[in-house]
Amino acid sequence: MSMSLNRKLVLLFAGLMAGVLAMVVLVILFAFRSYSVASSTAHVKTAAEMVRVHLTESMIQGTIHDRAQFLKRLEEVDGLLSARVIRSHHVNDQYGGSGLDEMPADNLDRMVLADGRERFVVNDEWGAAVFRGTIPFPATSSGSPNCMQCHQVPEGTVLGAVTLEVSISELKNQALITVATIALVLAAFSVLAILALKRLIRPVGETAHAVEVAVTRAMAGDFKGRLESRTNDDIGKIALQMNSLMDFLDGGLSRINQRAAQLTQRQPRQDENQLEVTIDLVNGLADAASFKQAIEEDEHKAEIYDRFGRILSERLGLSHYSIYETDGQKQLIPIMVDGVPQGACKWCDEQILARNDLCRAKRTGHAVDGLTHPGICYAFQPPSGETAGYRHYCLPVMQQGGVGSIIQLVTDAEDAARLEEQIPYVRVFAREMAPVLEAKRLTETLRESALRDPMTGLNNRRYLEEYVDTLISAARRRKSSMALLLLDLDYFKVVNDTYGHDAGDTVLKSLATTLRNSVRASDMVIRFGGEEFLIVLQDTEAGGAAQVSENIRAAVEALKINIGSEILQKTISIGFAMFPEDSETFWQIVKFADVALYRAKHDGRNRVVRFNREMWEEGNTNY
Ligand code: GH3
Ligand code: MG
Ligand code: MG
Repeated sequence: MSMSLNRKLVLLFAGLMAGVLAMVVLVILFAFRSYSVASSTAHVKTAAEMVRVHLTESMIQGTIHDRAQFLKRLEEVDGLLSARVIRSHHVNDQYGGSGLDEMPADNLDRMVLADGRERFVVNDEWGAAVFRGTIPFPATSSGSPNCMQCHQVPEGTVLGAVTLEVSISELKNQALITVATIALVLAAFSVLAILALKRLIRPVGETAHAVEVAVTRAMAGDFKGRLESRTNDDIGKIALQMNSLMDFLDGGLSRINQRAAQLTQRQPRQDENQLEVTIDLVNGLADAASFKQAIEEDEHKAEIYDRFGRILSERLGLSHYSIYETDGQKQLIPIMVDGVPQGACKWCDEQILARNDLCRAKRTGHAVDGLTHPGICYAFQPPSGETAGYRHYCLPVMQQGGVGSIIQLVTDAEDAARLEEQIPYVRVFAREMAPVLEAKRLTETLRESALRDPMTGLNNRRYLEEYVDTLISAARRRKSSMALLLLDLDYFKVVNDTYGHDAGDTVLKSLATTLRNSVRASDMVIRFGGEEFLIVLQDTEAGGAAQVSENIRAAVEALKINIGSEILQKTISIGFAMFPEDSETFWQIVKFADVALYRAKHDGRNRVVRFNREMWEEGNTNY
């Protein structure tokens, strides 16, 4: 965890004060010690001089033997702990022992007697501090009285010494009391200073904390956090600036949010991160815009649906879905199921394909929410009857004022909430897709109608013209032959003349059905002219073509046409030619088939004639 500024400053200050205190204590102790040593030295020297003067005087007076008494009395002086005199061996050598215990007591005494240098020592024992000084008495001839008058020693010889001990406990205690007082004062001052410092920097810490709280909320998408401006200084300014930044962000975000929500029709929720949701929404809208741009340039509806399917699975992660299209009548056509184009109806009762009003979204034109209301649509039938394990949401896509397509989203029941979140995005994409799809459907319908004869429902001559190249190149690639049949009703004019034009139309319609049913689905049946038809049989040899032609002729002959007032029976003549046997040019083969047809008419009608070269040469000479 990071340390707050407040704590850091307090620690720094406390450390500083402790350092100052330690230094002050050291300086004071050192000063006291130096002072006590200096003053004790002076005292001891003075006392030693007085002892020397007294001893000299006693020698002259002859009372030197009472010196022990004198020293005893000295010890009674306040602060003087002991006084001891030692004799050097020079004195003993001259006068003999004194009978008193005046031998050197320790090493220090011996050293002073040996070199004549005074020595001082502080014995700082527990409780009692003692200053000891040992001062030598050297023989001198310059003083009065002159030492040499009695002592037969060279000048400067150490005759003896005095060892004095004084108590410096008082001084030491004084020093300790001083140190304690100063430490107390300093500590009190530090505490007060720290309190003042804390008070001074509290707004910094509080503002920093408030900024942290506001920023955390903002990152969760909530820009409502504000700071209290506590002081009128820089910190107060930070709070004010922060607040105006929050105002700005809050206002901006709500405006973006509102607009994005309008565009996606998404209801905001209380617990969500507004910022993330908005980013998602804006991303979704941007993606939808580029999706629209892409599909506008697509050529066929199928590409648009494919792109939409990929958006569902790749961008929105929805793998279970169906897309249906209405056909203007009662049917629904599966366009894509779980990513498979023209896939089989998987998630619904198949009856909806034939009766689209069973599809609730188609019937009502409203979204069908099986997430919040499972079981709302009876047609929702997941495979193996696991209805309870799945949920669905169906979205109608409106085109030309009606339901044009239906997008059905399916999910495992556990993932219903996830699907629910994606629905606004699906809506955005579907909304972008709808007008483009509508335009494409319209052009495709127009194109379809231009290529189809409305009365019989067969393709027309224009269709043939468009597909000729494809037909020929496919046949060439497969190296297969192809038959071209030209058919014309016999004596059709009579029908019109006798029963009227409507009866004629009825005959043409039932003929068209018969023709369509007589050939394979891959064969092409074209209404070529009024009552002339053209059939292309792919991958068919001449023998097969003759057979199919004969079947057609027989079927037409057998056909009973109810024109209301009467039942009619008609016959048909058929001429055919082969690709590439007769010619490699398509329209040339049509011409040859026409020649064969003419021959069939000429030879008595109700018959099949295969083209041959002689007919062509004959025709060229005869007609
Ligand atoms: P043939 O056996 O020689 O073919 O005799 P036909 O009477 O059938 O003669 P033709 O093939 O020349 O007749 C074409 C007639 O088909 C002319 C026209 O009245 C009629 N017809 C063409 N288109 C239509 C149509 O759409 N509806 C109706 N009712 N009649 C049509
Ligand atoms: Mg005709
Ligand atoms: Mg005819």
